[in-house]
Amino acid sequence: MSDRTVPLVDLGLQHRQVAEDVQAGWEAVLERTAFVLGDEVATFEQAYADFIGVSHCVGVANGTDSLELALRALDIGPGDEVVVPANTFVASALAVRRSGATPVLVDVDADHLLIEPGQVAEAVGPRTRAVMPVHLYGQMAPMRELAACCDPDLAIVEDCAQAQGATQRGAHAGTFGAISGTSFYPGKNLGAYGDAGAVLTDDEGLARRVRALRNYGSEQKYVHDEIGFNSRLDTLQAVVLTAKLTWLGRWNEERQQASRRYEHLLEGVERVTTPRVAPGNAHVWHLYVVRVPGREDILRGMAEMGVQAGIHYPTPVHRLGAFRDLGYSAGDFPITEAASSEILSLPIYPGITEAQQDRVVDALVASLEPS
Ligand SMILES: *Cc1c(COP(=O)(O)O)cnc(C)c1O
Repeated sequence: MSDRTVPLVDLGLQHRQVAEDVQAGWEAVLERTAFVLGDEVATFEQAYADFIGVSHCVGVANGTDSLELALRALDIGPGDEVVVPANTFVASALAVRRSGATPVLVDVDADHLLIEPGQVAEAVGPRTRAVMPVHLYGQMAPMRELAACCDPDLAIVEDCAQAQGATQRGAHAGTFGAISGTSFYPGKNLGAYGDAGAVLTDDEGLARRVRALRNYGSEQKYVHDEIGFNSRLDTLQAVVLTAKLTWLGRWNEERQQASRRYEHLLEGVERVTTPRVAPGNAHVWHLYVVRVPGREDILRGMAEMGVQAGIHYPTPVHRLGAFRDLGYSAGDFPITEAASSEILSLPIYPGITEAQQDRVVDALVASLEPS
């Protein structure tokens, strides 16, 4: 990568800040050759539960599993429906499918591209057991409005994978639902050095259920009362996550600062719509997603100038081959579909420099011409 290239994310900057802690922690694990669960996992689970403000955090192998196990802990499965936004990463809907339940997709609001409570109310039917709001790009879905439009019997299962540290009216993502899942994939705001995830809940019974499900369906060694999974958080990953958690607040502030700078630099650039923060939300800018017509040419132009932009996501869930059997077609979710052809994620990460942001905006503006 040349000096002048601006990557979509730079994980090396974060690594250098925690490298010593990670090395010391890893050496202790290697010394004991104990690699699955153990003290380091319990330490991280407690620290993350405290940070979010929930009673229980259960570390699992990845974010997709966290959502599937959350649904299974609620006994959601075949014959049940779960409402999911069409504008999300595939894993939200995948987790519903893998639990055996049917994802019922809904459109998002045009301003924030988050699940739209009015659409949810219309999608709920006699088989609906849960709603899965996705806190996309780093800000929370409208939880108060969702709660107001949903029967209290419906479980809310939050997908917090893009929102570590995000709050709404002061409460963290992951504290609103009956149970929530999150991912610590390396590129998330809190990222491991491989795959990792966690389930969050205040409900002791659900937490116990997930602890068993992640461990072959066993609460007691060699006693298996249900079909479980092998989906545990690695000890080595727990060391990384504990080290990084102490930096997460600062890193999220750096993302917020970078977002303000983009907003300022893009002021008055016609044709580029900058992202909006919904009322009550503290946004943690997992992604900085602008909208711009002619996105494909702009993406190519920026790449030629050494700026890596991204698309999150080019194909809405209902247009993916894996979900063909759900029977949706083009035009079913017009807001999601219109957004998918215009959204462009600009590089954002803790430690991005002002000079890098200038290069991003220069490349974007240069790629807009000729109009
Ligand atoms: C990353 C992500 C997931 C899945 O997490 P993995 O750890 O990759 O399995 C789920 N939902 C959303 C919104 C994500 O961004």
